[in-house]
Amino acid sequence: MRITVAPDQTGKLIAALGRAGVRETGGQLFGEQLAPSDFRVTHLTVQARPGTVSRFVVDLMQAARDAIAFFHRTNHTYGRYNYIGEWHSHPSFAVQPSGTDLDTMRNLVRDPRFAGNFAVLMITKIDGAALSAAAWVFDPRGQESTVNLEVEVEQGH
Ligand SMILES: [Zn+2]
Repeated sequence: MRITVAPDQTGKLIAALGRAGVRETGGQLFGEQLAPSDFRVTHLTVQARPGTVSRFVVDLMQAARDAIAFFHRTNHTYGRYNYIGEWHSHPSFAVQPSGTDLDTMRNLVRDPRFAGNFAVLMITKIDGAALSAAAWVFDPRGQESTVNLEVEVEQGH
């Protein structure tokens, strides 16, 4: 699977990481399917409620509201525009899923109410001036693999 983060969304991500500082922050990834196994993140949400220095907990109410807003804006064309997954930062840890992160994603995709075919987890951090990010994909059948993640950067600043 390949996932590209659109440049304006990368800008939003970097700003959120800067605001959160030593605390974890996160949200959801929504976007467009370009081809089978090829997705572009066109809408990255940032949760208002921050995490702690070592933990990020999804605000399910905000996540639901943000999803409704995205589906409304994209005219409910779910075949093309849909939920891609979750993201959060690891300001104090490596860009790798923790045991808790793995449990959370496995529980998410195995929940009988989960409507998708997969969910991605992207983990990010600012290393000095550089953004680092990596992503993994989970599916309800227990398949897990690394995502080929491309983070595009805004030009012309
Ligand atoms: Zn984590």
